[in-house]
Amino acid sequence: MKRNYVIVTGGVLSGVGKGILSASIARLMKEYGFRVNTLKIDPYLNIDAGTMNPNQHGEVFVTEDGYEADLDLGHYERFLGVDMRRHNNLTAGQIYKSVIDKEREGKYLGSTVQIVPHVTDEIKQKISDLDGELIIIEIGGTVGDIEGEVFLEAVREMTLENDKENFLFVHVTYAPHLEVTDEFKTKPTQQSVQLLRRIGIQPDMIVVRSQFPVEEQDIEKIALFGGVPRSMVFNFPDIENVYEAPAILHSFDVHHKIASRLNMKTDGQFNWEYPRAFASKKVALIGKYLGTGDSYKSIIESVVLCGTEKPEILDSQSLEGLSPKELDLILKEYEALIIPGGFGKRGIEGKLAAIRYAREKNVPVLGICLGMQLMIIEFARNVQNLAQADSTEFHFDTPYPVVDIMEDQKKLLNMGGTMRLGAQKAKVFRETSLFSIYETDEIWERHRHRFEVNRELARPFLCYPGQDCSGRLTVCAEEDFIEAIELQGHRFFIGVQFHPEFKSKVGLPHPLFRALLDA
Ligand code: GLN
Repeated sequence: MKRNYVIVTGGVLSGVGKGILSASIARLMKEYGFRVNTLKIDPYLNIDAGTMNPNQHGEVFVTEDGYEADLDLGHYERFLGVDMRRHNNLTAGQIYKSVIDKEREGKYLGSTVQIVPHVTDEIKQKISDLDGELIIIEIGGTVGDIEGEVFLEAVREMTLENDKENFLFVHVTYAPHLEVTDEFKTKPTQQSVQLLRRIGIQPDMIVVRSQFPVEEQDIEKIALFGGVPRSMVFNFPDIENVYEAPAILHSFDVHHKIASRLNMKTDGQFNWEYPRAFASKKVALIGKYLGTGDSYKSIIESVVLCGTEKPEILDSQSLEGLSPKELDLILKEYEALIIPGGFGKRGIEGKLAAIRYAREKNVPVLGICLGMQLMIIEFARNVQNLAQADSTEFHFDTPYPVVDIMEDQKKLLNMGGTMRLGAQKAKVFRETSLFSIYETDEIWERHRHRFEVNRELARPFLCYPGQDCSGRLTVCAEEDFIEAIELQGHRFFIGVQFHPEFKSKVGLPHPLFRALLDA
């Protein structure tokens, strides 16, 4: 079968939206009848994003099959409406590890193991293993990065070993605007194209990102110096709503241009329903990873995909040590709270204060993963008067470890690490809010955690539907572990041990967010 590739590279700056563009191209081509697959290449040496600090790198996105990926896989899922898997992400760490493992196993039969051909061969093999007739490959970082070179070399070799006609290179750059002279600068774009050419890759299409529209004469200059026809250079100024991106590419006729360059025939229509107007509801996300705006990406997008303005991220540490009055002054601005996942002790007391506030003031609150564990701790401390109740994650010797790593549950931890990762089944109990939200009693949701509700210690304040639940938290879902709890009689007080945010898609936001916003 003939297979085609769209390869997306970046120049000038990182963070100009290659991920959104790649996802948008993928969706557009899918709408026009192609069997599309996507691959994000991350040139870093980590095996996966699981060990990376969200403060620097943004959210770790978890796939159904329990892979801890770069957040771009989240864009792909949301835009394409298709679940990603571990093979949709490739890191330099994985490639080198596999080459070195093979070397130790003697698989190279005595040869000197080198970047070319052994590492490049490994990359090409991984790319060929993907399924699909049109593969969109996004190469992370910018052209000129040392780590990225080997990947560019591998795709360059692929164009030689296959028909060059089957490859289309999209180079995404940035044109900075100089305030003083009020002009856009195209030189960085020209130079990044030159860098790409030096590696042996001539872009077929250039997407010039900018703060606002660039003048036609500058686009012509980029086309001329970039060696790309004017019709294949697009200016893509900043947009407020990223979900417009596929529609904008569509208006540029990018689908026809890609298809005709790759000798493919488009067949289909562009169906792209995305939220265009956003209800102004004040939602606060009580976070602690504030280093980049991307640490809570999937949660923010889940809210946005419900047609609601982005939640505001509050620093949980700034809520610590406040009097109830001071806390009230800050939180009364918001109509709902989200307590997201996280690791480690920092900022925990602020999150607990916010949960207490929401519980006592009847403010809708959704606790996710760590958020649910903290709902349990808050309830134990402030309703059950177990002042020392805690998670062993924060206080190893606590006399009341209501959240703990359970000995008999350790054997259930999978994926070789110590974290429970990926999609897990749970039974949802009828007569709970969760059941009315899901309208089903069996759910599969994605997990990423080590600690659990300690059933034994929490027993006195947990109850099951059908029992008298006043003054207790109701278990809404469980399987091997307690997976969701709620406080009956409250407007919306739900905690889930899993991450619903990873399952939201365009046109299909996760029902838990919808329910929170409705409340
Ligand atoms: N730190 C908690 C745990 O490991 C919660 C993890 C999370 O929120 N993803 O169980």
